Amino acid sequence: MTAPNILGSMKQDGSRLMIHTADVKGVWNRWRRTVFAVLLGVYVAGPFIPVGGHPMIQLDVQHRRFFLFGSTFNAQDFWLVLLLALSVAFALLLGTAWRGRVWCGWACPQTVFLEGLYRPVERFFEGPREARIRLENQPMSVSKFARRAAKYATFLVLSAAIAHTATALFVSPRELWLMINEGPRLHTEAFGLTLGFTAVLMFNFTWFREQFCVVLCPYGRLQSVLHDRDSVTVAYLEARGEPRGKIVKAPAAEAPKLGDCIDCKRCIAVCPTGIDIRNGLQMECLACTQCVDACDEMMDKVKRPRGLITFASQHQLVGQPSPVVRPRLLVYASLMTLCLVGLGVSLATRTPFEANIFRARGGMPYVVDGDVVRNPFEVHVFNKNPGPARFTLAFKGAPEDAQIIIGTPTLDLASLTDAHVPVSVSIPRKSLWKPVDLVLVVTDESSGTTREKTIRFLGK
Ligand code: SF4
Ligand code: SF4
Repeated sequence: MTAPNILGSMKQDGSRLMIHTADVKGVWNRWRRTVFAVLLGVYVAGPFIPVGGHPMIQLDVQHRRFFLFGSTFNAQDFWLVLLLALSVAFALLLGTAWRGRVWCGWACPQTVFLEGLYRPVERFFEGPREARIRLENQPMSVSKFARRAAKYATFLVLSAAIAHTATALFVSPRELWLMINEGPRLHTEAFGLTLGFTAVLMFNFTWFREQFCVVLCPYGRLQSVLHDRDSVTVAYLEARGEPRGKIVKAPAAEAPKLGDCIDCKRCIAVCPTGIDIRNGLQMECLACTQCVDACDEMMDKVKRPRGLITFASQHQLVGQPSPVVRPRLLVYASLMTLCLVGLGVSLATRTPFEANIFRARGGMPYVVDGDVVRNPFEVHVFNKNPGPARFTLAFKGAPEDAQIIIGTPTLDLASLTDAHVPVSVSIPRKSLWKPVDLVLVVTDESSGTTREKTIRFLGK
């Protein structure tokens, strides 16, 4: 089949063709709705559910800290975020090379919000596909105005709610509530950003919709290099379906020899990007599986086997074998595993605080005072616990006659705050006949975790 040379969401004259997807039922649709319900919960409730005294997910950009499922990360943990981002990126590459744009059709917030929230609202106010198309082509009337006004008002409420959720992701729900109560005059920046994001969401979900996936999304644009001829995608079995044609009631001898495709165009009607999967694999296919359910429904009606639209690689479509294990998949899987193992080990060995010892700045590294040598140090402790914590400072490894003065041996630190503590260590010269390594021991009293840092004592 020859592929069409215009987008499914475009009219012949180049103007936009609004896509009104038909309702579809089926096993894939049920799975997809379940996934949407779960993801909507995660995307919307993430910043509002408290875990360990902080939101489950919060990107506190202003204070350069990040809360995730009760753990606190700060700027020093940037490499952990990098490992996480790389793991997600390689997982996405692996998923795409293996199963096509499944992320797009099943988990991307653009799809989850459009298909899980906005489209059902549109369906509620304007009816099924045929009614929506009729309404679009009708001149303005009281009924059309009322339906459109109710739909857009609900869209506005949804967009404002999502924009506020996004703001809560950066400032915490408590601060968001405070801002709302104090009004936009005191928080012009946050108010402006939330308003702007609401406008972007309105534009995106009322008009732009699938165009985001088709022409704007960089990941979408990369599909042609991420796929190969062994990637298993949603595919039409041309050999079985063609030549397509309506069912003709005629004696068997006179009936035209047709394939299984009855050319009902249901697969096009349900497609959120308006493509005809019968034209072969297209970049616009989001692997949403709506056409699989739609075609199975039609096959059931005409009592033909299901699976005319199914999952197959380009090689399988022409009867060639498609290896499951391929170099590309192995490389992506290895890189993803490497990043995940690195991340897991780092998280498992991560302590809930940072502790370091330095030579005191701006002075001599050591002072000889008669028979005694003195070293001034500075200890830095940073509390990464989600709540306040008490830390005790001690030293080991010093000779018995050493005198150690710690500015504040016990520190009470609020979450994500730090303290610098001056330390003076004096050791008689007679005890310095061999190098002395001092070991700073910092203990987090709440968890019992300790960190040790070694520093050499200078001078003889
Ligand atoms: S839904 Fe199935 S039978 Fe109908 S046009 Fe599409 S491929 Fe052909
Ligand atoms: S072709 Fe099928 S799987 Fe691809 S986007 Fe359209 S409906 Fe979804």
